[in-house]
Amino acid sequence: SFRDNLRVYIEHPQAHSNVLYYDEDFVFIRDKYPKSKMHLLLMPRDPSLTLVHPLEILAKHRELVEKLVSMVFRKLPDLIMREARNSLFSNSDLSSKVSSKTLWDFIKIGFHAGPSMNNLHLHVMTRDHVSPSLKHNAHYISFNSPFFVNIDTPIAHLPVRGSLSYLFQQDVCCYRCGKSFGRQFSKLKVHLSEELDSWVQDTLAS
Ligand code: 5GP
Ligand code: ZN
Repeated sequence: SFRDNLRVYIEHPQAHSNVLYYDEDFVFIRDKYPKSKMHLLLMPRDPSLTLVHPLEILAKHRELVEKLVSMVFRKLPDLIMREARNSLFSNSDLSSKVSSKTLWDFIKIGFHAGPSMNNLHLHVMTRDHVSPSLKHNAHYISFNSPFFVNIDTPIAHLPVRGSLSYLFQQDVCCYRCGKSFGRQFSKLKVHLSEELDSWVQDTLAS
């Protein structure tokens, strides 16, 4: 099934150009259908954990959660900052004016509460959602609602598996200004593009 399509990366990381980094325990790849300017996936390679549901990982496999956090913030931050700068800014003169702190504030890290792909993968992505692969409201909602479970979510706040499908019928709202677009995806798309331009302007001005 297509749901197993991420397995190749943890089994044969050396064979794929989407792979940015790998070691014995983790593979870090570019999402093939990015839903933001930067959209990366961090995958644990352990065969005994790769098919465990992310909500169960967050609830019961805290050692792995800590390792994922450590990979993002201790092992891979330079790589993530480079990817963020290259994907958000048209040239390095501009991007060099922007602090890493500002970029980290524009990055979110989490799991989908109901992934479509079977092999465990942590999303590491910018907040803009400006991408041709963002094709419908459901894509946007899945990353901008409780369906996107931040890696630092306390166990007591984890959603119940299968309880969030109602979210996908709701109106779409801008992640930055809160404006609602009803169910009008094409209007949201135009606005997301404007918000990214505005974020870049604000960021370069500050
Ligand atoms: P999920 O909704 O399961 O949390 O996210 C799965 C992600 O995997 C999606 O963002 C999707 O674009 C990405 N994806 C699907 N197939 C492939 C593939 O073959 N290669 C890569 N690199 N990413 C993929
Ligand atoms: Zn807005």
